Amino acid sequence: MATPPYRRYADTAALIADMAPDHPAFLFSEQVLREAARTFEKGFDGLVTYAVKANPSDHIIEILADEGLKAFDVASVNEMALVRRFAPEAGMHYNNPIKSKREIAAAWHDFGIKSYAIDNLAQLEQIATIIPPTTDVEITIRFKAGKARKSYDFGTKFGVSETGAIDLAQKVQAMGYSASLCFHVGSQCEDVNAYERHIAAAGRIATKAGIVLKRLNIGGGFPASYPSSSAPPLKKYFDLIRKAVKKTFGDNPPEMIVEPGRAMVTPCTSLLLRVKHQRAGLSVYLNDGAYGALMEVKFMPILPSVRVWRGAELLEGPTAPFTIFGPTCDSYDVLPQIFELPADIAEDDWIEFGLMGAYTQASVTAFNGFSERLQFFVDDILL
Ligand SMILES: *Cc1c(COP(=O)(O)O)cnc(C)c1O
Repeated sequence: MATPPYRRYADTAALIADMAPDHPAFLFSEQVLREAARTFEKGFDGLVTYAVKANPSDHIIEILADEGLKAFDVASVNEMALVRRFAPEAGMHYNNPIKSKREIAAAWHDFGIKSYAIDNLAQLEQIATIIPPTTDVEITIRFKAGKARKSYDFGTKFGVSETGAIDLAQKVQAMGYSASLCFHVGSQCEDVNAYERHIAAAGRIATKAGIVLKRLNIGGGFPASYPSSSAPPLKKYFDLIRKAVKKTFGDNPPEMIVEPGRAMVTPCTSLLLRVKHQRAGLSVYLNDGAYGALMEVKFMPILPSVRVWRGAELLEGPTAPFTIFGPTCDSYDVLPQIFELPADIAEDDWIEFGLMGAYTQASVTAFNGFSERLQFFVDDILL
């Protein structure tokens, strides 16, 4: 594999013993990623793709392609280039409804992309100025059918109503493209029934629009198993989806597509941060925070798993409730969650946050000059 030659360790203790990393470090377990890919490939009846935005690391793209993923969901020209470079054989679905003409031209002419999502008539007209209508090009209409009870909602930003989708599907078909449908129930969706509700709506849209649906993309949203999650296991989701497809489409279902981001990459990476300062009032100041790898932990109600290292030894003992601050000089740089940590945690210890593969590496900033992030391959990480 052309993966960069990251140092590889058996476990976190071996990494700390060798490197004592003083910068924030992402610990990537290849085996755990391969297992997640197999869970989707085996459990889901249809095409498994990966939403690149959740973690655009080159090794992740490469390993998922090696696990047999045949397509990726991309949202920008840079993501297209990344997929082309690390999964050259893979197809791409350009499923960001918001595009510029320059980006559509790049997708079409430079990357040969044949699948584009829209949720508005203006976007269809925009595509038609660049891509001549042909049934080889799929226009996927993104619709919404109610908010999931427990999820991080995308519905307020994207998705046309059911009636709007019928109208758009007819226009797509009349123009000469191939019409299909997609939705996204919202991220970390702990409400399994949201998928069923949207699949039923997709059936109604196709019938009322008078189109034969070739493909139905049910998006991402599958939950990761954070300690704070009350979601059932993924198998339950796959079973309910299979039943809903059968119920809605009978013996003639569309090809189903899934595009997990979070659930694919959350468990494969843990985050090793160092304590820079500890003070009375049970506060620890770490070397990364809300402007870096912990950005999503700042604004999502998720709680990662944690363990504390003193050198290469786990720090155990009575715990206390701590507030975690990041390293920048901005008072926004503090986490809202309270973390139970060993009471005598001190400067130079490390906190390993487990389940940190999604929306962490993807959204780091260099704010206040804290730009360094390290990457290691570690077989046995905190889950
Ligand atoms: C973000 C996104 C995904 C992945 O969502 P997760 O909740 O991380 O699974 C899938 N599809 C589209 C179009 C997205 O924007």
